[in-house]
Formats: sequence, structure tokens, C-alpha cells
Amino acid sequence: MKKDAATMEKIVALCRRRGFIFGSSEIYGGINGFWDYGPLGCELKRNIKDAWWQDMVRNPPSTAGHPKLAGREFQMVGVDCSIIMHTRVWEASGHVGGFSDLMSTCKYCKKMVRADQVWSMIEETEWFKSLVELYATKGIDQVAGTDLVQWAQRKAKKLVPNLALVRNPTVTISWLTERVLSASTPFPMTLKEVIQYLATEQLSMTNAFVTPCPFCGGDLTEPRQFNLMFESHAGAVKDDANKVYLRPETAQGIFANFQNVYDTSRVKIPFGIAQIGKAFRNEINPRNYTFRSREFEQMEIEFFCHPDESMLWYEFWREARINWYKSLGIASDKLRPRQQGKEELAHYSQACTDIEYLFPFSDEPQELEGVAHRGSFDLNQHGKFAKGKEDAFAIFDDEAWERDKDRFTAEEAKDAKSKPPYKYVPHVIEPSAGADRFTLAVLTEAYSYDETRASPEFLKFHPRLAPIKAAVFPLVAKDGMPEIALPIYEAIRKVFPAQYDAKQSIGKRYARMDEAGTPFCFTIDGQTKEDGTVTVRNRDDASQVRIDKSRCLEYLRDKLGL
Ligand code: ATP
Repeated sequence: MKKDAATMEKIVALCRRRGFIFGSSEIYGGINGFWDYGPLGCELKRNIKDAWWQDMVRNPPSTAGHPKLAGREFQMVGVDCSIIMHTRVWEASGHVGGFSDLMSTCKYCKKMVRADQVWSMIEETEWFKSLVELYATKGIDQVAGTDLVQWAQRKAKKLVPNLALVRNPTVTISWLTERVLSASTPFPMTLKEVIQYLATEQLSMTNAFVTPCPFCGGDLTEPRQFNLMFESHAGAVKDDANKVYLRPETAQGIFANFQNVYDTSRVKIPFGIAQIGKAFRNEINPRNYTFRSREFEQMEIEFFCHPDESMLWYEFWREARINWYKSLGIASDKLRPRQQGKEELAHYSQACTDIEYLFPFSDEPQELEGVAHRGSFDLNQHGKFAKGKEDAFAIFDDEAWERDKDRFTAEEAKDAKSKPPYKYVPHVIEPSAGADRFTLAVLTEAYSYDETRASPEFLKFHPRLAPIKAAVFPLVAKDGMPEIALPIYEAIRKVFPAQYDAKQSIGKRYARMDEAGTPFCFTIDGQTKEDGTVTVRNRDDASQVRIDKSRCLEYLRDKLGL
């Protein structure tokens, strides 16, 4: 591992040390899957959400340059909906009954594991790595029963005490020996198969081998559905009639308000409704720091358009969203858009791209955002459930009708008016991003290491995202320096988040600001009193220049480009 590599351990340690992110309820030992953002982290995340709102809602991406949509205008508006909604919302959306992952439970330690994540979790364990080492040293066809028993006693007993090989080595090894002896050459087993043999004491009725629990090696049950929504009760009585759910996504608040917004905002198709807010999922295996949490924030857009143009708008948003990440410094090859294959798509979806990022915790890129073409599924569902008819949220295109109406006789007109292309349920393009996942990607991307610096770790945030934009230091807290420094600080902080610090050595103060990702520090020193200049230190290359003390704010504006 290169010294300068951004490992999860280093990022987590820096975030903890500098107050970006804390475990929730740490003083009581913490609670799995929940996180608190500290002073620097909450500024960073706020900047991310503000940048999204500014660039998607207030000043949305331009269609200029698009081969087919250039010049087309569209409106974007926002909503801020309640977290708890009518239970029927979740029936219509398919979350009640449907919003579940396939889960396996360990028969020994009772932990639950998402079926599609079992093997990636196993691959991260210490016991798996030590088994890989054993097989790599000997060669997959050379590992004897005695080697495995030795491994069971020395390693597995401590790490995976409930693995069948540990509990009953004789029987388990006999399975394996039988399999090896009956095999043709070359050796036909993969390590995954070997592990399944080592986890199986007795073949089940279906003759299936066991997949071991990543945590203790015990037998995992066949995968079953598990509902991920948190439940509560609204009202005094805790019965089924009062049951409510914490929203597992912000999208449904938008769909449920489609008609309200359409009727009150004078928006016209195509237009988008955006929302930023908390969502809750009782994830079975919250992990990889904030990447998979149980409480997280989403930044979602539902963009409503004419069905005939929906593929164009899908492509437009996909590009717009990829470019947004790049514009905020995620320009490296770690950003990987991945178009989902037909077999991965939900039944109503015509296309979906996952915008993925290569985090240090995995060799596979992981989803930051999904850009999905959802057809008219959501509005149809709410039409059915709330109004009793699928096309209840169909809209009438009066402009198109005015243009074309003379083509119809009075008799034909009535029929034509109630059908596409004049009356239709809009199609939806949904760019759905996670604020916490992007915050983690920003931290990862910003992490920099330069061993020639006194304090080698620093965070190279994009200027828009940096929690603190500038710091002002009097070199010493005397000799008239604070008197010059304070007015400079006060002028800057009216415009940009800034900090004033008069304590510790100047090197330590620079190092603290580097770790916070502050782009510029202004230092008032002995020379300031002589010629009115201050030192400006640049976070990225530690270079220093002198400028007139009256130019600090102007310099910042210019360099930050904000
Ligand atoms: P995954 O497959 O990783 O569980 P998903 O496909 O279920 O994600 P969506 O339902 O599409 O996710 O949610 C949209 C976005 O919300 C995701 O791209 C992600 O950024 C964020 N998100 C979803 N689940 C979580 C979570 N448990 N923790 C943090 N962010 C999440």
C-alpha cells in the first residue's frame, strides 16, 4: 500500500480527529448505521446540498449544446415534504410488501446478512484471507486434510468458531476428500466451492451445500424477504390502524404532490420537482462507514416530460449529473457511470444508469446515484391507489391542442382531446443521489498526502465545498498584530466562512487548516506593520505570496472563483 493512498482507515481517522464525522451516540457506545456530522462535516455536507440545489433547482443545467434539446427551456421547483406520510403512499409505491431485500440468517449467531452481499463480506474477513494464503502457498490441489485441520485449530477456531470444519472436522473433510477423489484433473474446484464444503456438516434435504456466516462461520438459512422500512405509530394507540413508516426515499413525497405543484406553480411540461431530505432504511448490514447507513440524506429530482421525449431527457440528465460530479472535483477516473443491463432494470423502467465511484473499501465501483427512466409507473400507481384510475394524473397539452385542433371535426375533437398526444400521463426521469455517499466521495477524492510537508495529510476540497474558505492568523498575539488581523477576519467572514486563530505555532495552525481543507490562510506578521502586506499561504502547494492587507477579500474572491 502506497503511503499516500487514501485508505478508509486514514480517512476515518482524519474525519474523527478533525470533527468531520462522529459515530452517533458514541458516549453510550454508539449505534450501528447512524452517524453525526461534526462542525467541519456539517459545513461540508451543507455545501454539497447547497451546490446541488443551486445547480439543479435555481440555475439548472443548460440544454445548450445538446443535439436535439438545445434551446429547450424547463423549470425546476422544490418541495420539502414530511418524513411520515399516509401508509397508502407506501402501498402504492410498492414499498409495503415489496421494499425488501433477500436475507439469510445465521443459525448460530442469529445475525442477518443480505443474500447478494454474503460473498463480498466473506472476502473481507480475516479468516477468508488466511484461507486464501494457505491455498496460495500450497496450490489449490495440494492442500491436504491435515492442513485444513491445522488451519481449523490455529486460525478458524478463533475467527469462525461455528464453521462446520471447526465443529466437526472429520465429517467435513470426508466430504471434501470424496469430492477431490472423484474429480477429474485438473482440479475442478474454486475456493468458493471449497469454503462451502468446509461449511457443510450435513447435506440438507435439497442436497445444497451451506454458505457460511461471514461473522462466525455458522450455517446461513435460505434467503428470505426482509422489510427495510422503520415502523412507528402516529397517535396514542399502538395498533395496526395507527402504524406509520419513516420514508425510505424522498421521491414519494414529490409524486404525492405532483398535482398540487402542477396546479399552483404554473409549471409546464417538461419540468422537475426536487427535494433534499432524510430517508431511513433498516439496512441489515450497515457498513463501509457512512456509505450504507440506516439514516441518510437523499437529493432527488423527479423530472416530468412527454413520453415521446423521455429518452432524450433521460440522456440529458445522465450527462448533466455526471458533469456535476466532475465540476466539483470528482474528475478522476474513479467516477464510473454504468448503464444497467436489461436484466437489472425494474419492470417499469426503460433505462437506468448508476453513477458509481471507486471507494477505497472495494475493488468494485459503488453507487453514488441512480439516474432512472421510470416511465409513468409512479403517477399511474398513485392514480390507481388515490383516485381509483390509473390515468388520474394525466395532463392536457393545451398548447399542442391549440396548434392542431383545426385538423379535427367537432365530433373527432372530443375523442382526440382525451388521448395522447394531447392527454397523457407524464413520464419521469429520476436522478436520485445520496448526500452522504457524495460527502464520503468528496472526502476520499480530497485526501492528499505529501511527506515533504511538516504535517503530510491535507484535504484538497473544491473551493465551493471547502467547509472553511479562509483563515486569518496574527503571527503572534501581541505587537499590534491582532489589531490588524481582526478587521481582516471580520470583513472576510461576512462573505465566506472563515476562522481566526491566534494560538500555537504558525506551522501547527497551517497544518490544522490543511486538515480542514481550507484553501487560503492570511498571516499578519512583523512586516505587515512596516509595509502593509500580509502573507497568503496556499493549501495545495504550501506556497506563499505577499499581498496588500486591503486586498485579502478581493484576492479570495478571485482565487476561489466564487
Ligand atoms: P444500494 O443498492 O446501494 O442499496 P439503492 O439502489 O437501493 O442503493 P436507491 O434506492 O436508488 O439506492 O437510492 C438512491 C440513492 O440514495 C443511492 O444512490 C445512494 O446514494 C443513497 N442511498 C441509498 N441507500 C443508502 C444507504 N443505506 N446509506 C446511504 N445512502 C444511501
